[in-house]
Amino acid sequence: MELFLEEESNEIKKLQLGQSKIEYIKSASILTEGKGFMDAYDYTLNPYTGCTFGCNYCYAAFFSRSEEEKQNWGFWLKVKENALQLLLKQRKKPLWNKTLYLSSVTDPYQPIEKELEITRDILKELINYHKVRLVVQTRSPLVTRDIDLFKQFEVAQINMTVTTDSEHVRKVFEPICPSNKVRLQAIKEVNDAGVNTCITMTPLLPVENAISFAKNLLQTGVKKFIVQPFHADKGKFIASTRSDAIKLTQEMGWDDNKYLQTVEILKQYLPQIGEGKSGFAPI
Ligand code: SF4
Repeated sequence: MELFLEEESNEIKKLQLGQSKIEYIKSASILTEGKGFMDAYDYTLNPYTGCTFGCNYCYAAFFSRSEEEKQNWGFWLKVKENALQLLLKQRKKPLWNKTLYLSSVTDPYQPIEKELEITRDILKELINYHKVRLVVQTRSPLVTRDIDLFKQFEVAQINMTVTTDSEHVRKVFEPICPSNKVRLQAIKEVNDAGVNTCITMTPLLPVENAISFAKNLLQTGVKKFIVQPFHADKGKFIASTRSDAIKLTQEMGWDDNKYLQTVEILKQYLPQIGEGKSGFAPI
């Protein structure tokens, strides 16, 4: 995930939804040129700012506009309610053959997306007026709602992030994310529909059993995978979660060697496994 800030203006509405504070904003832009980790892409597109999945290692949190937002990462979201209107302006200069990554600093399938359909509207606009080479990155089962649209793209790939085989690990690092099981079921459904898919183990968190993990991943039918290391001792964490994460990685003996051993096992089972930035290259 690469990070950058986008201009915002005219916050117009705020509400509390469950534990999350939701703000509706008018963004100044919707397409951002790919930079840094995402520089192989022409553009990234983020329909939201912030993320109510709140992974405690999320790099995007450290680019929050205030210390309060950083500390409350996962419990606030800004909805770019004019996202489609901004994209409509792009009809004058269609994004033909451009590579587009959706999304780099949020998940395009936030729970509230179910009602708002901002991402869905963006996908429809892309289908009707542009010929982008699209990569969608998510960890939400809501992605299956848009299978009908994905099938209409000439070039599209859906990436599902699955970082561990352990629900215990998942709950320490990603306490408000969908479960591993739900994510695997969702990407299987997308794959079964004939859409290009990929499972991204980015980052790969401590794994309990690499062989059974690999076998479970294969059962989804997905053939493409990406893996990337995570160093709990060097990593940044939100709020007070760092000590829990470090304690768990130590308990599970998760260090650089264990990561490399696990990746070696995964490589024996998984047909196509890319690593780090090159693994994220556009399709
Ligand atoms: S889902 Fe992605 S953007 Fe959201 S908190 Fe997790 S890593 Fe960050």
